[in-house]
Amino acid sequence: GTPLAILAAIARTARAGAFVKDGTHLELLSGIDTVVFDKTGTLTRGQPVVTGVVPAEGFDVTEVLQAAAGAEMLSEHPLGAAILAHARDEGLTPHTPSDFGYQPGRGLTATVDGRCVRVGNAELVPEASAWTPPADVQGVTSPGTSLPGTWVHVAIGDAYAGTIVLADAVRESARRCIDELRGMGLRTVMMTGDAEAAARAVGRTLGMDEVHAELLPADKSRLIEAQVAAGRRVAMVGDGVNDAPALALAGVGIAMGSGTHIARESADIVLISSDLDDLTSTIRTSRRARRIIM
Ligand code: ADP
Ligand code: MG
Repeated sequence: GTPLAILAAIARTARAGAFVKDGTHLELLSGIDTVVFDKTGTLTRGQPVVTGVVPAEGFDVTEVLQAAAGAEMLSEHPLGAAILAHARDEGLTPHTPSDFGYQPGRGLTATVDGRCVRVGNAELVPEASAWTPPADVQGVTSPGTSLPGTWVHVAIGDAYAGTIVLADAVRESARRCIDELRGMGLRTVMMTGDAEAAARAVGRTLGMDEVHAELLPADKSRLIEAQVAAGRRVAMVGDGVNDAPALALAGVGIAMGSGTHIARESADIVLISSDLDDLTSTIRTSRRARRIIM
């Protein structure tokens, strides 16, 4: 049976806002030496806002926004929700796509008003790789932080049509959490599908030990496997469709309560109110329970 100290610890973590699916994971959590975090929606709030739309030559802001917002109508991603909200604020009425395909970690391809529209990173819209952001785009920062924005490129048909710049803020609890984990002697690692510059800036602000950017879901899984193979005892925290396979591979998978259904399903522990302070207190509780048993 489950030791009494573990049962008591599960009850304690439940009051602290963490849903622990079973006791073995609490025991594993007490012995971890590395915590791997997803960025968007985990370390950041996942409520980005559009801060700029930069059309390519031959396109205008309205056309780019109308096409991108239509394509995003069936998307579950926080970037999609932000683009749609911005288009509506601008008085546009996006049209539902007749065809829609999502590539986690890259973006989406949809048919909007009879045209093929791609919305996503530079891998999905390679035509954008020649794009040089204007100075004001490079300088875009999220409110209250100095983080560079996330760029989402848009292609209509075969042509690069423009780039949408979005800003997201780092969670207040992320700063405290990374500081405390460091104090507890744990290594902190970020892995994200976002671009290198945006990822490094967040990693640097938070003082994380390692940053891995531009990862597809399979890359996230490989990174967890590599850490485990190197003898690391790994917990991973994430929220997205793209995190689910990696969450299942980590010794302890931890999902944000605000995350996607599949992330919560794949995880062993759910942080109900998406507060990273609850992560620190759950790790402390697991360590205390272990001391009582041994
Ligand atoms: P993270 O790993 O930090 O949670 P994602 O893997 O979800 O980030 O997204 C990585 C990148 O893929 C984004 O920065 C964006 O460029 C692109 N992307 C993913 N989903 C979408 C979407 N729905 N619309 C536009 N771009 C997207
Ligand atoms: Mg995420």
